[in-house]
Amino acid sequence: MSGNVKETSRIPGKRGLSETFSVTSSSLPSFKIEISRPDLSHWEKGNSGIRGFHHFRAAKPGPHVALTALMHGNELAGAVVLSELLSMGIRPERGALSIIFLNLDAFYQFCPGNPVASRFIHEDMNRLWHPSIMNSSKHSLELERVREIFPIFQTVDHLMDLHSMLWPAPPLILSGSTERGLRLGRNIGIPSLIVADHGHQYGKRLIDIPHFTSPDSKASACLLEAGQHWTKDSVETTRLSVSRFLMTSGICDTPPYALPDYPSPAPVIAQVTECITARSRSLTFTEPFTSGDIIRCRGTLLAWDGEDEIRTPYDNCMLIMPNPRTARGHTAVRLARITPAHIPDTAQ
Ligand SMILES: [Zn+2]
Repeated sequence: MSGNVKETSRIPGKRGLSETFSVTSSSLPSFKIEISRPDLSHWEKGNSGIRGFHHFRAAKPGPHVALTALMHGNELAGAVVLSELLSMGIRPERGALSIIFLNLDAFYQFCPGNPVASRFIHEDMNRLWHPSIMNSSKHSLELERVREIFPIFQTVDHLMDLHSMLWPAPPLILSGSTERGLRLGRNIGIPSLIVADHGHQYGKRLIDIPHFTSPDSKASACLLEAGQHWTKDSVETTRLSVSRFLMTSGICDTPPYALPDYPSPAPVIAQVTECITARSRSLTFTEPFTSGDIIRCRGTLLAWDGEDEIRTPYDNCMLIMPNPRTARGHTAVRLARITPAHIPDTAQ
């Protein structure tokens, strides 16, 4: 550890690199596929005139609550759980419930032999939720879908967007940049790690749209990262998290999945201070870090990005979803502060 480290995490080298690079399945380890792609043929048409969109309204007043899955076509856990909810015949007891399968075209491309290939067809759907992109003349399959369904979210009071992770890691909730999102994440509390962040450097997420982030709005949104994409654990985490979400939103009196009868651990709040975007094609971590790792000492070298050094900017820095195969221009890791009471003795 250096005794004279700047507050920023990036220590520039002599020059940056500028190659373009895209991650291919051949550069990744093989991941075990424990779950099957669910059969969504019953649910593809929807019940409201928009593909993959189901909407149910109760007689009693209440909030409009939405659950979305398949923002990324190869993240199966959310699709499994939303399909189960529809098969159960879930209905809100008050308010309204929307269930939306977002990128069905990418989902149908899912192939266990190359499971990373079906994240999207043309571009990452969760970087397109900004008026400058939605109102542009650009065209892609994902952008057309965003334009089609965007108006739905303008009436949503509480949203939970269901995702999972490529690299095995403990699950977490991304609560975005607002106090409302953080409160929603804390109230859900399964999983117990709540990460407050400002999104990615390039492109806005659904949870970042002004309806969920503007001071003039009361609507709230969060994003579940349920664990590794194709594990049974990610499905179970999604079930419990969705149950808590539906209960805490007030539209259901009975959870669709039984919740643990023991108290959940107190939420751990991690505030992202910096999102490290790879500037080179060769960002390399110094160790096989896992999301949730806490690095004890400020100034610890985390990665090389071309000739730049990436170091922890403060003591007890939590690493959020490090990606050891980051493409240039993509998020490599988020650095987060956690409250001192949540720092375990086992921090590195
Ligand atoms: Zn995702």
